[in-house]
Amino acid sequence: MNKNPYAWIEASLTTIHRADWYRSVQTINSLPGAVVLLSGQEVINFASNDYLGLAADESLKTSAIQAIQKFGTGSTGSRLLTGHRELHSELEQAIASTKQTEDAVVFSSGYLANLGTITALVGKRDLILSDQYNHSSLKNGAILSGATIIEYPHCDILALTAKLKQERQKYRRCLIITDSVFSMDGDLCPLPELLNLAEEFSCMLLIDEAHATGVMGKTGAGCVDHFGCTGRELIQIGTLSKALGSLGGYVAGSHQLIDFLRNRAPSWIYTTALSPADTAAALAAIKIVQQQPERRQRLWENVDYLKHLVTENLLNLTLNLTPNLKILPSQSPIFCFQLPDAATALTAGKKLKEAGIFAPAIRPPTVPTSRIRVTIMATHEKEHINKLVNSLKELIIDN
Ligand code: PMP
Repeated sequence: MNKNPYAWIEASLTTIHRADWYRSVQTINSLPGAVVLLSGQEVINFASNDYLGLAADESLKTSAIQAIQKFGTGSTGSRLLTGHRELHSELEQAIASTKQTEDAVVFSSGYLANLGTITALVGKRDLILSDQYNHSSLKNGAILSGATIIEYPHCDILALTAKLKQERQKYRRCLIITDSVFSMDGDLCPLPELLNLAEEFSCMLLIDEAHATGVMGKTGAGCVDHFGCTGRELIQIGTLSKALGSLGGYVAGSHQLIDFLRNRAPSWIYTTALSPADTAAALAAIKIVQQQPERRQRLWENVDYLKHLVTENLLNLTLNLTPNLKILPSQSPIFCFQLPDAATALTAGKKLKEAGIFAPAIRPPTVPTSRIRVTIMATHEKEHINKLVNSLKELIIDN
């Protein structure tokens, strides 16, 4: 056998190119913010998850620098060996206090928090019910757990109820998993209904508050706060890397849940602890979220402003001129402009960039339908949003 065992990679790359699914990195050589330098070009940034504009905030930077000076750059080991600092406990207490849960634990990323928690909670004899639009980290956590996975249609409570009636009693444990704010569509999971179903069918419920943390609810605690479900028993996962402007993930819940994860979640036990700088920056961000509600207010004013402009300027155009473009109704700072195929989405993203707007095309396999995804930040000015809408309008007329 002299066949090159790596030859299939080239063939696979060719297939990816042909489908217009090829992705490559783009370099930002400036501080994060509403305006950034993208491959040397100044663009208005509608692609960032830094919803509150905290990633370049002075108090986060100062906290990170002080933590480096005091504790060094690396945490040198896993939490259970040499990696734990008091800062980690402070951050975990701050998260638990924001979420009003008994306890919380931080992971080195949101992705690892999902993988570790799902694999710790369920196994071969168990069932996972998963929203079809869930984030990759939930889907891969489910696969890794070895449980039976049933995907239910997006946010469809009736379909989920039918599946539970049919399947629940065949399995030992059952875990329902869902994004709370859907990362690519910007809509919300029906949390109160999910909680009721979880109770009725004796299921655990895990929600991923990655895009909700710092953004949703009166206190910025997430969708649990937004829906008035604080205090109900469930597993809340999130990230420190989006509105909190740092890096890392968290799980918030009961003492027993968190204690159990510290003993059973492999992606917490066997990985190096979150760095002192990231931990300190996240802690500073949580204090800002608690003490400066005006930032969140500014974000929502910008969201409402974009919604208003879209209704006034784009909805008629899309109906008349481009029946293939669908603007999804958003309940968050994430907006989705669906396009018929990957090639059209790529062209749209390119034209927007030429107009000085960074709002990238998102394509399969990340999402089932290609789109331009726009995220709003508290630090956007009205003129930035005007320019976005004008550029989208030109794009629609061009079509
Ligand atoms: N869940 C969702 C819904 C996400 O969008 C992301 C990040 N894209 C993650 C989890 C992973 O978080 P992190 O970037 O902290 O690994």
